[in-house]
Amino acid sequence: MASKEVILPYLFLLIYTKKTAMKRILIALLLSFFHFTSFAAVILQYHHVSDTTPKSTSITPEQFEVHLQYLQDNKFNVLPLSEMIDGIKNQQALPDKAVVITFDDAYLDLLTQAKPLLDKFGFPYTIFVNPAVISRNDKKASSHYLSWQQLKAMADEGVIIANHGDEHDSLVRLPKGENQQQWLIKQAELLLKAEAIIKEKTGQSWQYFAYPYGEYDVAVQNWLKELDFVGFSQQSGAIGLTTDLTSIPRFPASMPYDKISSLRDKLNSLPLAVNLKGDQAETIFRHKEPKSITFSIESDDFYQAGLNCYISGLGKQKIIWHDDSSFTINFTKDLPVGRVRCNCTAASISKPGRYYWYSKPWFILKNDGTWYPL
Ligand SMILES: [Zn+2]
Repeated sequence: MASKEVILPYLFLLIYTKKTAMKRILIALLLSFFHFTSFAAVILQYHHVSDTTPKSTSITPEQFEVHLQYLQDNKFNVLPLSEMIDGIKNQQALPDKAVVITFDDAYLDLLTQAKPLLDKFGFPYTIFVNPAVISRNDKKASSHYLSWQQLKAMADEGVIIANHGDEHDSLVRLPKGENQQQWLIKQAELLLKAEAIIKEKTGQSWQYFAYPYGEYDVAVQNWLKELDFVGFSQQSGAIGLTTDLTSIPRFPASMPYDKISSLRDKLNSLPLAVNLKGDQAETIFRHKEPKSITFSIESDDFYQAGLNCYISGLGKQKIIWHDDSSFTINFTKDLPVGRVRCNCTAASISKPGRYYWYSKPWFILKNDGTWYPL
């Protein structure tokens, strides 16, 4: 901790300095004096660890080992998911450079390919499972999924087994004529049923839910909060104490994002405290409907001119700052039908070489309001 004599002159300078850029440098200096234990965590999302499964959901065992070696060599703190979530819930700082490893869908190659490597490095991890899918394939000799017996053995060794929905159904793709309120009542029953089966088969119940296909909207987020579950999505971004517990970002780490060059900045990324006011938080729109997005950001640790935002399919976007903490992007073109992301990054002033990283997802429907194929 720095002494009063060191800090006071900086505080005076800060108060009497009019220039924003100078203020930011002084705040960064003050922060570095105080040695705040920052909360900057990252979750990696994998599916298959295999040479023979579809590339878009796979990483080869060789490259997976490269990831684990990189985490070890660069002194990342690989934590169990529960430790990270408890840190946010209790507003307690975690060690810096915290990383959590997660797998979706509970494929058999986790046991045969990933587990021996994870055990070698002693890294904890989480598996998001679909109980109905596991049960349906449980006795099949040719199953590509882990069995309940295998999941139980892994759970007993400390692996976190969490909820990915009973079936692998999207929460936002309603059958024709269904009203959303009725639909979510039914989905709540299914979610709680899945949680009860996980508890019965593995002895664990964390109330952690990874949205199938990463699809959610504000109504689903409120629904999940009511059920007292934590929600994990599939947009990228770092995690901090202000991260919304109903849409926790995860960085996809499978192909084509599996190269260390693509992973390095993500692993070192810092959370941006972004607030989406009112309908800015909505994620589902018809094609050609959304024309702009306004973000509110609380941070003094980057320069406004250093913030860059890219939208998938549209490229780099022009940022219009309204004041110190809010800006608007007027889209250069219509957002394309399908899954769309706006990724914003900014270099940290107090932590040279590290970037703030935030991503906002949209799910853009076709012109007639129907869904694009999964
Ligand atoms: Zn999945």
